[in-house]
Amino acid sequence: MSADAAVKYVTEITPEDESRVAEWINTEEYKEKNFARQALVINPAHTCQPLGAELVAHSFEGTLPFVHGSQGCASYYRSTLNRHFREPAPAVSDAMTEDGAVFGGQNNLHEALENAYALYKPKMIGIFTSCMPEVIGDDLTAFIKNARQKGFIPQDFPVAYANTPSFNGSHIHGYDSMLLSMLQTLTEGKRMEGRCTGKLNLIPGCDFNTGNYREYKRILKEFGIPATVLADISDVFDSPLDGTYRLYPGGTKLEDAADSINGKVTMTLGKFATTRTFSWIKDNYAGEHLSLPTPFGIEKSDAFMMKLAELFGKPVPESLKAERGRAVDAMTDAHQYIHNKKFAVYGDPDYLLGYVSFLLEMGAQPYHILCSKGSKKLEKDIQALLDSSLYGKDAKIYMNKDLWHLRSLVMTDPVDAIIGDTHGKFISRDAKIPLFRFGFPIFDRVNLHRSPLIGYQGVINMVTTICNKFIDITDDTCDDRHFEMMR
Ligand code: SF4
Repeated sequence: MSADAAVKYVTEITPEDESRVAEWINTEEYKEKNFARQALVINPAHTCQPLGAELVAHSFEGTLPFVHGSQGCASYYRSTLNRHFREPAPAVSDAMTEDGAVFGGQNNLHEALENAYALYKPKMIGIFTSCMPEVIGDDLTAFIKNARQKGFIPQDFPVAYANTPSFNGSHIHGYDSMLLSMLQTLTEGKRMEGRCTGKLNLIPGCDFNTGNYREYKRILKEFGIPATVLADISDVFDSPLDGTYRLYPGGTKLEDAADSINGKVTMTLGKFATTRTFSWIKDNYAGEHLSLPTPFGIEKSDAFMMKLAELFGKPVPESLKAERGRAVDAMTDAHQYIHNKKFAVYGDPDYLLGYVSFLLEMGAQPYHILCSKGSKKLEKDIQALLDSSLYGKDAKIYMNKDLWHLRSLVMTDPVDAIIGDTHGKFISRDAKIPLFRFGFPIFDRVNLHRSPLIGYQGVINMVTTICNKFIDITDDTCDDRHFEMMR
C-alpha cells in the first residue's frame, strides 16, 4: 500500500472552498462576526506579565532574573528577548513541574535559589512568577523568608520579587510590579533627612529600544544634568562584541538606585507602564516627582526639554535647539510624502500615544488605533490628542481588541500603512501595505532597537523611515513615464 493510500482525511477542503473563505474573511459580513467574538483572542498585541518583569530584572547591575514557575515559560521570555535584541538574556528558572503544582513550589524555589546564588554569584536576584504558581497561590513572601532562615541565601542578600500573574494585564504591568519591588528593596532604610543627591532619577518606562535609553543619557549630558537612569537596559541588551562574555553587562548601579530615594527630582516617562511605581515614589521619595508622556514627536519632546530646563534652572542647550530645528526641517522636507496618509497603529499604551502625536504633527491620519490591553483612561488620553487636530477627526479607537480584529478593519476600511511590531506582518502582507516596526517585539529586522524614536533625533528617524518607504513604493509601482530621478 502506498503512503498516500494510508492517509484518511477527516474533512476535505477543496481549493474552491479555500479561495471562497479567503475572500470571505475580507468582507464586512465577516468583520461583524469577528467583532462579535468574545471568548477567544487571536494574535494579541502584547506579551505576558513576567516578560516585562524580566526586562526590569536584567536592567540593574549584577542582577539575576529568576522565574518561579515553568521552565517552558522561562524559555519563552528569554527567547523573545533574544530574538528582539539578538543578545543573550541570561535568567534562571526553578522549573516547577506536576509535583510543584500539587504540593506548592517552595522546594523548587529553595533549591534553585541556593544553586543560582552559588553558581552565578549575582549581587541581587529578581524573582517573578509564571501562571502556575499564581494559580495555586504560592506565597513568595513566606518562601523567601524561609530560604533566608534555612541559609539558602544570606540574610542580607537583596531579593526583589513580584507577583506577575499572566492571566491578568500584560508585560507593562509585570514591568511596573517588578520595578516597584526593585526600588522598594534597594532603597529600604536609605532615605536620609536633609540629604539631596542633586540628581534627576529618570524612569523611561517599559521600553525595549536601547537607542532610546542612550538618547535620554545624551540629552541629559548636553544639559549637564546629573542623572540616574533607573532600569537602564542600554548596555545590557546592546553590549559590544569583543570576545569576552559578560553575564551581567551594564544596568543601573545598585548604589545609585539605592540613593535615588534622596534625589532632587524623579521623573517617569510613559505613565501607563509605571502607574504603581510612580504612586509609591510620590509617597516615599524626596524631592519633586512628575510623570510626563514618552517624548515622541516635537511637542512632547519640547515638553520634556522645557521641564528639564525649568527643574534644573538651566537653559535648553544650543546644541539641542539646533537639533530641534533640524528635526522640524526634516519634517517639512518630508511632509508631502506622508500628508493625509491613513495609518493603522497598535502597541503598548505609551507608545501608542507617541505614534498618534507624531502622525498628527506630520499631517497624517492615525485612523485605526488599537490596543490589546487598554483602559478607559488610555482611550480618553488618545481621544484628547485626536480632538486637538483636524487629522484626528476620522480616527477610531479599539480597546482590548487583537490583531485579527485589526486585520478585518484594514481589509474592509483600508489604510496606507501600519505602525506596530513584527506580529503585524501578516496583515501587512495580506493588505499589501507597509508595516513600520517601531514597537516590541521586532524579530524579523535587524538593529531597529538601536535606532532611537524619542526626542528630536527620534523624529528624524521616524520621518526618514516612513517617507522613504512611501517613495520606494512610488518607484516600484509607477509606470515608466513617471519613473523620475527627483521625488
Ligand atoms: S501566559 Fe502564563 S503559561 Fe503562558 S508563557 Fe506567560 S506565564 Fe507561561
